[in-house]
Amino acid sequence: MTQRNFISILADASVRSNPAALLPPACFVLQRDGIRPSGSATRRLLTILLLLLPFLSSHAQNCEYALVVHGGAGNLSATENDPVRAPLLYAAMDSALHIGERILSGGGEAGEAVLAVVSYLEDNPLFNAGKGATVTAEGAFELDAAIMLGKDLSAGAVAGVKTIKNPIRAAYAVLTQSPHVLLSGEGAEHFAAGQGLETVDNAYFATPRTLEWIEQLKKESGKNGTVGCVALDKHGNLAAGTSTGGMLRKRWGRIGDAPIIGAGTYADNNSCAVSCTGHGEYFIRHAVAFNLCARYKYLHEPVGEAADYIIHHELNANEGNGGLIALDKDGNIAMPFNSTGMIRASLYKEKNAPASVRQTGIGKNLK
Ligand code: ASP
Repeated sequence: MTQRNFISILADASVRSNPAALLPPACFVLQRDGIRPSGSATRRLLTILLLLLPFLSSHAQNCEYALVVHGGAGNLSATENDPVRAPLLYAAMDSALHIGERILSGGGEAGEAVLAVVSYLEDNPLFNAGKGATVTAEGAFELDAAIMLGKDLSAGAVAGVKTIKNPIRAAYAVLTQSPHVLLSGEGAEHFAAGQGLETVDNAYFATPRTLEWIEQLKKESGKNGTVGCVALDKHGNLAAGTSTGGMLRKRWGRIGDAPIIGAGTYADNNSCAVSCTGHGEYFIRHAVAFNLCARYKYLHEPVGEAADYIIHHELNANEGNGGLIALDKDGNIAMPFNSTGMIRASLYKEKNAPASVRQTGIGKNLK
């Protein structure tokens, strides 16, 4: 067996979930409750598993740190070729990677990197998060955000907030300074102010672009993108964060998937970190972020396979338009979407490599 064949057998999900499949049938004995490996077969199985260990964990040993960021999914065919907007979006993605890499390469934690990257994107008026947030049916701004740390499953989120300059920072304060996971509306604002976070008038979130939408709320296509970030640090910690102004023309205190732990945001050091973007109602119904982690953890699907299945089969472009970014605990990256585009960028730093490998895209192709 060539090494390539050997590795492709190991990569097979059914073999990884049942390594006994590698043993010849003679190694099994029939028991009342089913077929079990015989005593010598068990010893052989253990030996094989020990021999396989370096191969099974080779990627984990290779990844020093990794980070993926998104700036929203949707109908981006025009944006991709927009000579003004596309370069600005690429530059913003590049800055986001730079901010995250500075923290991760210095030994900082994944949560720290996610917080810094999402805060930067919230301050950037190009995105539907913080300044630049989309407008509600009443022509106001109501923001949602969440952050989760995979090391202890701690999480914090805020929903429907109107005066917190950086909702992701308020979400992080909920995580670190409160016994709760999700605070909403005025209560969340009161809490954030008490934590010394910067508050602003609701009009702060407006930009010339969003003011134009307020004037012509019919213009559905005028849409900025939600932002999100997932990171894996040098210590093996995963973290995820998402921040959004929600869906254009939302009403009645509507809350989307971004601040719902397990729907738009999830991180678990034993599986993956996930941040979603798209039509939130569908991402909530399909518990997309946790769903992906569960497929990875319990079905042993590679992160790319699990992400593709959810985005292209459970959701589809008509029902559940959008995408996600995900990183598994070994630094494998997935960025699928079923819309025409998703603003996204990733970096992967291999141990002992002189520099990280970066990729950025708006439409199907990555640069
Ligand atoms: N998922 C967000 C929401 O439904 C919107 C988006 O990602 O564009 O609130």
